[in-house]
Amino acid sequence: MVKTKEVKQQQEMSVFSQLAEHNHEKVVFCHDHDTGLKAIIAIHNTVLGPALGGTRMWAYTSEAEALEDVLRLSRSMTYKAAISGLNVGGGKAVIIGDAAKDKSEALFRKFGRFIKNLNGAFITVEDIGTTSKDMEYIRMETESVAGMPETMGGGGDPSPVMAYGTYMGIKAATKKAFGTDSLDGKKIAVQGVGNAGVFLVELLTKENTKVFITDIYADRLRDVSAKYGAQVVGMNEIYDLDVDIFSPCGLGGTINDKTIDRLRCRIIAGSANNQLRDEQVQGQALQERGIFYAPDFLINAGGLINVYSEIVGYNRERAYAQAERIYGYTLEIFEKAEEEGISTQQAAIQIAEKRIADIGKVRSSY
Ligand code: NAD
Repeated sequence: MVKTKEVKQQQEMSVFSQLAEHNHEKVVFCHDHDTGLKAIIAIHNTVLGPALGGTRMWAYTSEAEALEDVLRLSRSMTYKAAISGLNVGGGKAVIIGDAAKDKSEALFRKFGRFIKNLNGAFITVEDIGTTSKDMEYIRMETESVAGMPETMGGGGDPSPVMAYGTYMGIKAATKKAFGTDSLDGKKIAVQGVGNAGVFLVELLTKENTKVFITDIYADRLRDVSAKYGAQVVGMNEIYDLDVDIFSPCGLGGTINDKTIDRLRCRIIAGSANNQLRDEQVQGQALQERGIFYAPDFLINAGGLINVYSEIVGYNRERAYAQAERIYGYTLEIFEKAEEEGISTQQAAIQIAEKRIADIGKVRSSY
Protein backbone atom coordinates (compact mmCIF):
# COMPACT_ATOMS: atom_id res chain seq x y z
CA MET A 1 0.00 0.00 0.00
CA VAL A 2 1.34 3.45 -0.94
CA LYS A 3 1.58 5.65 2.14
CA THR A 4 0.03 9.09 1.91
CA LYS A 5 2.19 12.10 2.70
CA GLU A 6 0.08 12.71 5.80
CA VAL A 7 0.62 9.17 7.18
CA LYS A 8 4.35 9.44 6.55
CA GLN A 9 4.47 12.79 8.35
CA GLN A 10 2.60 11.31 11.32
CA GLN A 11 5.10 8.45 11.54
CA GLU A 12 8.05 10.85 11.39
CA MET A 13 6.45 12.97 14.10
CA SER A 14 5.90 9.95 16.25
CA VAL A 15 9.63 9.16 16.26
CA PHE A 16 10.46 12.74 17.20
CA SER A 17 7.76 12.83 19.84
CA GLN A 18 9.25 9.67 21.32
CA LEU A 19 12.65 11.39 21.45
CA ALA A 20 11.10 14.49 22.96
CA GLU A 21 9.25 12.52 25.63
CA HIS A 22 12.43 11.79 27.59
CA ASN A 23 14.68 14.36 25.96
CA HIS A 24 16.94 12.05 23.94
CA GLU A 25 19.78 13.86 22.22
CA LYS A 26 20.29 11.72 19.15
CA VAL A 27 19.13 8.50 17.51
CA VAL A 28 21.02 6.93 14.62
CA PHE A 29 19.43 4.33 12.35
CA CYS A 30 22.11 2.13 10.80
CA HIS A 31 21.42 0.12 7.67
CA ASP A 32 23.73 -1.90 5.44
CA HIS A 33 22.42 -4.02 2.61
CA ASP A 34 25.50 -6.20 2.12
CA THR A 35 25.85 -7.39 5.72
CA GLY A 36 22.13 -7.27 6.56
CA LEU A 37 22.81 -4.83 9.40
CA LYS A 38 19.78 -3.11 10.85
CA ALA A 39 20.62 -1.29 14.06
CA ILE A 40 19.55 1.69 16.13
CA ILE A 41 21.92 3.68 18.35
CA ALA A 42 20.25 5.95 20.91
CA ILE A 43 22.19 8.63 22.75
CA HIS A 44 20.10 9.87 25.62
CA ASN A 45 22.33 12.32 27.48
CA THR A 46 26.01 13.32 27.32
CA VAL A 47 26.18 16.02 30.00
CA LEU A 48 28.37 13.87 32.26
CA GLY A 49 30.48 12.39 29.46
CA PRO A 50 30.29 10.22 26.34
CA ALA A 51 27.26 7.96 26.19
CA LEU A 52 28.15 4.46 27.34
CA GLY A 53 25.90 1.48 26.81
CA GLY A 54 25.58 -2.06 25.56
CA THR A 55 24.76 -3.30 22.10
CA ARG A 56 21.88 -5.76 22.29
CA MET A 57 21.08 -8.20 19.48
CA TRP A 58 17.49 -9.39 19.55
CA ALA A 59 14.91 -10.69 17.08
CA TYR A 60 12.45 -7.85 17.68
CA THR A 61 9.02 -8.50 16.21
CA SER A 62 8.84 -4.95 14.86
CA GLU A 63 11.04 -1.91 14.32
CA ALA A 64 8.79 0.07 16.66
CA GLU A 65 9.52 -2.46 19.41
CA ALA A 66 13.28 -2.12 18.79
CA LEU A 67 13.05 1.68 18.92
CA GLU A 68 11.03 1.61 22.13
CA ASP A 69 13.57 -0.74 23.72
CA VAL A 70 16.63 1.30 22.75
CA LEU A 71 15.05 4.55 23.95
CA ARG A 72 14.09 3.05 27.31
CA LEU A 73 17.42 1.35 27.81
CA SER A 74 19.55 4.38 26.85
CA ARG A 75 17.66 6.57 29.32
CA SER A 76 18.25 4.03 32.09
CA MET A 77 21.96 4.18 31.30
CA THR A 78 21.99 7.95 31.86
CA TYR A 79 20.43 7.51 35.29
CA LYS A 80 22.56 4.52 36.14
CA ALA A 81 25.78 6.44 35.45
CA ALA A 82 24.57 9.59 37.17
CA ILE A 83 23.39 7.91 40.36
CA SER A 84 26.56 5.83 40.61
CA GLY A 85 28.77 8.93 40.49
CA LEU A 86 30.32 8.04 37.12
CA ASN A 87 31.33 10.59 34.51
CA VAL A 88 29.68 9.05 31.47
CA GLY A 89 26.36 9.65 29.79
CA GLY A 90 23.65 7.26 28.70
CA GLY A 91 23.32 5.41 25.41
CA LYS A 92 22.36 2.04 24.03
CA ALA A 93 22.29 0.23 20.70
CA VAL A 94 20.13 -2.57 19.36
CA ILE A 95 20.86 -4.76 16.38
CA ILE A 96 17.68 -6.25 14.95
CA GLY A 97 18.37 -9.91 14.27
CA ASP A 98 18.63 -13.43 15.62
CA ALA A 99 21.84 -13.75 17.60
CA ALA A 100 21.94 -17.47 16.86
CA LYS A 101 21.73 -17.09 13.05
CA ASP A 102 22.39 -13.58 11.81
CA LYS A 103 25.88 -12.78 13.14
CA SER A 104 28.96 -12.29 11.01
CA GLU A 105 32.32 -10.56 11.31
CA ALA A 106 31.31 -8.17 8.52
CA LEU A 107 28.05 -7.22 10.26
CA PHE A 108 29.79 -6.25 13.50
CA ARG A 109 32.61 -4.46 11.69
CA LYS A 110 30.10 -2.47 9.67
CA PHE A 111 28.30 -1.63 12.90
CA GLY A 112 31.71 -0.56 14.27
CA ARG A 113 32.02 1.89 11.36
CA PHE A 114 28.73 3.50 12.35
CA ILE A 115 29.99 3.89 15.93
CA LYS A 116 33.27 5.33 14.66
CA ASN A 117 31.32 7.98 12.76
CA LEU A 118 29.93 9.23 16.08
CA ASN A 119 33.45 10.46 16.97
CA GLY A 120 33.54 9.16 20.53
CA ALA A 121 30.02 10.25 21.50
CA PHE A 122 29.02 6.60 22.03
CA ILE A 123 31.08 3.83 23.62
CA THR A 124 29.62 0.36 23.54
CA VAL A 125 29.95 -2.92 25.43
CA GLU A 126 28.42 -6.38 25.10
CA ASP A 127 24.83 -6.96 26.14
CA ILE A 128 22.13 -9.57 25.67
CA GLY A 129 22.75 -11.39 22.39
CA THR A 130 26.29 -10.09 21.92
CA THR A 131 29.61 -11.48 23.13
CA SER A 132 33.16 -10.32 23.70
CA LYS A 133 34.01 -11.86 20.32
CA ASP A 134 31.50 -9.51 18.66
CA MET A 135 33.08 -6.60 20.55
CA GLU A 136 36.48 -7.60 19.18
CA TYR A 137 35.10 -7.22 15.66
CA ILE A 138 33.69 -3.78 16.49
CA ARG A 139 37.08 -2.90 18.03
CA MET A 140 38.73 -3.57 14.66
CA GLU A 141 36.90 -0.51 13.33
CA THR A 142 36.70 1.83 16.31
CA GLU A 143 38.27 2.38 19.73
CA SER A 144 34.87 3.24 21.19
CA VAL A 145 34.39 -0.21 22.72
CA ALA A 146 34.86 -1.28 26.34
CA GLY A 147 34.28 -4.55 28.19
CA MET A 148 37.12 -6.20 26.30
CA PRO A 149 38.53 -9.55 27.46
CA GLU A 150 41.25 -9.43 30.12
CA THR A 151 43.72 -10.83 27.57
CA MET A 152 43.18 -7.64 25.55
CA GLY A 153 43.73 -5.36 28.54
CA GLY A 154 40.06 -5.05 29.41
CA GLY A 155 38.10 -5.78 32.56
CA GLY A 156 36.59 -9.00 31.25
CA ASP A 157 33.09 -10.18 32.09
CA PRO A 158 31.30 -7.45 34.09
CA SER A 159 28.68 -9.90 35.40
CA PRO A 160 30.41 -10.82 38.72
CA VAL A 161 30.79 -7.14 39.70
CA MET A 162 27.25 -6.47 38.52
CA ALA A 163 25.90 -9.37 40.59
CA TYR A 164 27.84 -8.12 43.62
CA GLY A 165 26.23 -4.68 43.29
CA THR A 166 22.79 -6.26 42.97
CA TYR A 167 23.52 -8.37 46.05
CA MET A 168 24.41 -5.13 47.92
CA GLY A 169 21.09 -3.63 46.79
CA ILE A 170 19.22 -6.72 47.97
CA LYS A 171 20.92 -6.52 51.37
CA ALA A 172 20.08 -2.82 51.72
CA ALA A 173 16.44 -3.49 50.81
CA THR A 174 16.40 -6.33 53.36
CA LYS A 175 17.74 -3.96 56.00
CA LYS A 176 14.95 -1.50 55.21
CA ALA A 177 12.17 -4.11 55.11
CA PHE A 178 13.26 -6.40 57.96
CA GLY A 179 15.56 -4.24 60.12
CA THR A 180 18.65 -6.35 59.43
CA ASP A 181 20.56 -6.99 56.24
CA SER A 182 21.15 -10.64 57.03
CA LEU A 183 19.58 -12.93 54.44
CA ASP A 184 19.51 -15.81 56.91
CA GLY A 185 16.34 -17.84 56.33
CA LYS A 186 15.10 -15.62 53.50
CA LYS A 187 13.24 -17.11 50.52
CA ILE A 188 14.33 -15.58 47.23
CA ALA A 189 12.96 -16.11 43.72
CA VAL A 190 15.46 -15.46 40.92
CA GLN A 191 13.89 -15.03 37.47
CA GLY A 192 16.55 -15.80 34.86
CA VAL A 193 19.88 -17.52 35.49
CA GLY A 194 22.05 -16.23 32.66
CA ASN A 195 25.38 -14.43 33.11
CA ALA A 196 24.07 -12.16 35.84
CA GLY A 197 21.60 -14.46 37.58
CA VAL A 198 24.04 -17.27 38.11
CA PHE A 199 26.59 -15.08 39.93
CA LEU A 200 23.79 -13.67 42.05
CA VAL A 201 22.55 -17.16 42.97
CA GLU A 202 26.12 -18.01 44.02
CA LEU A 203 26.25 -15.00 46.38
CA LEU A 204 22.74 -15.58 47.75
CA THR A 205 23.31 -19.24 48.50
CA LYS A 206 26.45 -18.40 50.51
CA GLU A 207 24.03 -17.15 53.15
CA ASN A 208 21.45 -19.49 54.62
CA THR A 209 18.77 -18.77 52.00
CA LYS A 210 16.18 -20.78 50.12
CA VAL A 211 16.57 -19.83 46.45
CA PHE A 212 14.04 -20.62 43.71
CA ILE A 213 15.08 -20.28 40.07
CA THR A 214 13.40 -20.21 36.70
CA ASP A 215 14.61 -19.72 33.14
CA ILE A 216 13.70 -20.38 29.51
CA TYR A 217 16.62 -22.82 29.22
CA ALA A 218 16.26 -26.16 31.01
CA ASP A 219 19.99 -26.95 30.82
CA ARG A 220 20.90 -23.72 32.66
CA LEU A 221 18.37 -24.52 35.36
CA ARG A 222 19.71 -28.03 35.75
CA ASP A 223 23.32 -26.79 36.08
CA VAL A 224 22.56 -23.98 38.53
CA SER A 225 20.31 -26.19 40.60
CA ALA A 226 22.94 -28.93 40.80
CA LYS A 227 25.74 -26.51 41.69
CA TYR A 228 23.98 -24.28 44.24
CA GLY A 229 21.06 -26.36 45.47
CA ALA A 230 18.48 -23.89 44.16
CA GLN A 231 14.95 -25.17 43.57
CA VAL A 232 13.67 -25.05 39.99
CA VAL A 233 10.16 -23.64 39.41
CA GLY A 234 8.11 -22.93 36.28
CA MET A 235 8.35 -19.61 34.44
CA ASN A 236 4.77 -18.72 35.25
CA GLU A 237 4.77 -20.23 38.74
CA ILE A 238 7.55 -17.90 39.98
CA TYR A 239 5.15 -14.95 40.34
CA ASP A 240 2.95 -16.80 42.84
CA LEU A 241 5.65 -18.02 45.21
CA ASP A 242 5.46 -17.09 48.85
CA VAL A 243 8.92 -15.49 49.02
CA ASP A 244 10.57 -12.55 50.78
CA ILE A 245 12.42 -11.29 47.71
CA PHE A 246 11.58 -11.42 44.02
CA SER A 247 14.67 -10.86 41.87
CA PRO A 248 14.09 -10.25 38.14
CA CYS A 249 17.32 -11.17 36.33
CA GLY A 250 16.02 -11.94 32.83
CA LEU A 251 14.47 -9.48 30.42
CA GLY A 252 12.72 -6.29 31.50
CA GLY A 253 9.02 -5.55 31.91
CA THR A 254 8.12 -8.57 34.04
CA ILE A 255 6.57 -6.37 36.73
CA ASN A 256 3.42 -5.34 34.91
CA ASP A 257 -0.38 -5.15 35.21
CA LYS A 258 -0.72 -8.90 34.79
CA THR A 259 1.91 -9.95 37.34
CA ILE A 260 1.88 -7.31 40.07
CA ASP A 261 -1.19 -8.62 41.93
CA ARG A 262 0.27 -12.10 42.04
CA LEU A 263 3.46 -11.10 43.87
CA ARG A 264 3.64 -12.00 47.55
CA CYS A 265 7.13 -10.69 48.27
CA ARG A 266 8.23 -7.78 50.50
CA ILE A 267 11.10 -6.79 48.22
CA ILE A 268 11.73 -6.60 44.47
CA ALA A 269 15.42 -6.33 43.68
CA GLY A 270 17.20 -7.81 40.70
CA SER A 271 19.63 -7.22 37.88
CA ALA A 272 17.28 -6.90 34.88
CA ASN A 273 16.99 -3.54 33.18
CA ASN A 274 13.58 -1.82 33.09
CA GLN A 275 11.84 -4.28 35.38
CA LEU A 276 8.71 -2.14 35.66
CA ARG A 277 6.65 -2.28 32.46
CA ASP A 278 5.49 1.28 33.18
CA GLU A 279 7.61 2.94 35.84
CA GLN A 280 4.90 5.46 36.82
CA VAL A 281 2.11 2.90 37.10
CA GLN A 282 3.94 0.02 38.73
CA GLY A 283 6.27 2.34 40.70
CA GLN A 284 3.23 3.78 42.46
CA ALA A 285 1.45 0.42 42.73
CA LEU A 286 4.44 -1.08 44.54
CA GLN A 287 4.59 1.91 46.88
CA GLU A 288 0.88 1.46 47.70
CA ARG A 289 1.34 -2.25 48.36
CA GLY A 290 4.29 -1.61 50.68
CA ILE A 291 6.67 -3.60 48.49
CA PHE A 292 10.22 -2.30 48.71
CA TYR A 293 11.45 -1.88 45.16
CA ALA A 294 15.18 -1.31 44.77
CA PRO A 295 15.47 0.65 41.49
CA ASP A 296 16.99 -1.58 38.83
CA PHE A 297 19.21 1.04 37.24
CA LEU A 298 20.93 1.60 40.58
CA ILE A 299 21.41 -1.92 41.83
CA ASN A 300 22.55 -3.35 38.49
CA ALA A 301 25.07 -0.52 38.00
CA GLY A 302 27.99 -2.83 38.90
CA GLY A 303 28.30 -3.84 35.25
CA LEU A 304 28.64 -0.23 34.20
CA ILE A 305 31.01 0.45 37.10
CA ASN A 306 33.26 -2.37 35.87
CA VAL A 307 33.25 -1.06 32.31
CA TYR A 308 33.81 2.52 33.46
CA SER A 309 36.78 1.34 35.48
CA GLU A 310 38.21 0.00 32.23
CA ILE A 311 37.91 3.41 30.58
CA VAL A 312 39.71 5.21 33.42
CA GLY A 313 42.31 2.43 33.97
CA TYR A 314 41.07 -0.96 35.05
CA ASN A 315 41.34 -2.00 38.67
CA ARG A 316 39.08 -4.86 39.79
CA GLU A 317 39.33 -4.06 43.50
CA ARG A 318 38.25 -0.48 42.86
CA ALA A 319 35.34 -1.72 40.75
CA TYR A 320 34.17 -3.98 43.61
CA ALA A 321 34.62 -1.16 46.14
CA GLN A 322 32.49 1.14 43.97
CA ALA A 323 29.84 -1.57 43.54
CA GLU A 324 29.74 -1.96 47.34
CA ARG A 325 28.57 1.67 47.63
CA ILE A 326 25.28 0.59 46.04
CA TYR A 327 24.28 -0.54 49.54
CA GLY A 328 24.38 3.04 50.87
CA TYR A 329 22.84 4.57 47.76
CA THR A 330 19.90 2.14 47.97
CA LEU A 331 19.23 3.02 51.60
CA GLU A 332 19.41 6.73 50.72
CA ILE A 333 16.74 6.23 48.06
CA PHE A 334 14.43 4.35 50.44
CA GLU A 335 14.78 7.20 52.96
CA LYS A 336 14.06 9.90 50.38
CA ALA A 337 11.05 7.98 49.03
CA GLU A 338 9.64 7.54 52.53
CA GLU A 339 10.20 11.16 53.56
CA GLU A 340 8.68 12.62 50.42
CA GLY A 341 5.93 10.01 49.92
CA ILE A 342 7.15 9.14 46.43
CA SER A 343 8.07 5.85 44.79
CA THR A 344 11.65 4.62 45.06
CA GLN A 345 11.90 4.83 41.28
CA GLN A 346 10.96 8.53 41.41
CA ALA A 347 13.37 9.15 44.27
CA ALA A 348 16.23 7.54 42.35
CA ILE A 349 15.46 9.48 39.18
CA GLN A 350 15.33 12.75 41.10
CA ILE A 351 18.75 12.12 42.65
CA ALA A 352 20.21 11.22 39.23
CA GLU A 353 18.63 14.24 37.50
CA LYS A 354 19.89 16.57 40.20
CA ARG A 355 23.45 15.36 39.69
CA ILE A 356 23.20 15.85 35.91
CA ALA A 357 21.78 19.36 36.40
CA ASP A 358 24.45 20.28 38.99
CA ILE A 359 27.38 18.97 36.95
CA GLY A 360 25.93 20.51 33.80
CA LYS A 361 26.20 23.93 35.50
CA VAL A 362 29.80 23.24 36.60
CA ARG A 363 30.79 22.29 33.07
CA SER A 364 29.15 25.30 31.50
CA SER A 365 31.72 27.50 33.22
CA TYR A 366 34.65 26.63 30.93
P1 NAD B 1 21.67 -13.40 29.79
O1 NAD B 1 21.11 -13.36 28.42
O2 NAD B 1 22.99 -14.05 30.02
O3 NAD B 1 20.63 -14.12 30.76
C1 NAD B 1 19.28 -13.80 30.82
C2 NAD B 1 18.57 -15.09 31.21
O4 NAD B 1 17.23 -14.78 31.52
C3 NAD B 1 18.55 -16.11 30.08
O5 NAD B 1 19.01 -17.35 30.55
C4 NAD B 1 17.08 -16.15 29.64
O6 NAD B 1 16.69 -17.41 29.20
C5 NAD B 1 16.38 -15.77 30.94
N1 NAD B 1 15.06 -15.16 30.78
C6 NAD B 1 14.67 -14.16 29.97
N2 NAD B 1 13.37 -13.87 30.15
C7 NAD B 1 12.92 -14.71 31.12
C8 NAD B 1 11.67 -14.90 31.76
N3 NAD B 1 10.60 -14.16 31.44
N4 NAD B 1 11.58 -15.84 32.71
C9 NAD B 1 12.65 -16.59 33.05
N5 NAD B 1 13.87 -16.46 32.47
C10 NAD B 1 14.00 -15.53 31.52
O7 NAD B 1 21.69 -11.89 30.32
P2 NAD B 1 22.43 -11.34 31.61
O8 NAD B 1 23.74 -10.77 31.23
O9 NAD B 1 22.35 -12.34 32.71
O10 NAD B 1 21.50 -10.11 31.98
C11 NAD B 1 20.26 -10.31 32.64
C12 NAD B 1 19.61 -8.96 32.89
O11 NAD B 1 20.47 -8.14 33.65
C13 NAD B 1 19.31 -8.18 31.61
O12 NAD B 1 18.12 -7.46 31.76
C14 NAD B 1 20.50 -7.27 31.48
O13 NAD B 1 20.19 -6.14 30.72
C15 NAD B 1 20.76 -6.95 32.93
N6 NAD B 1 22.12 -6.53 33.20
C16 NAD B 1 23.15 -7.41 33.06
C17 NAD B 1 24.44 -6.97 33.31
C18 NAD B 1 25.61 -7.90 33.21
O14 NAD B 1 26.72 -7.47 33.52
N7 NAD B 1 25.45 -9.15 32.83
C19 NAD B 1 24.66 -5.64 33.70
C20 NAD B 1 23.57 -4.80 33.87
C21 NAD B 1 22.30 -5.25 33.61
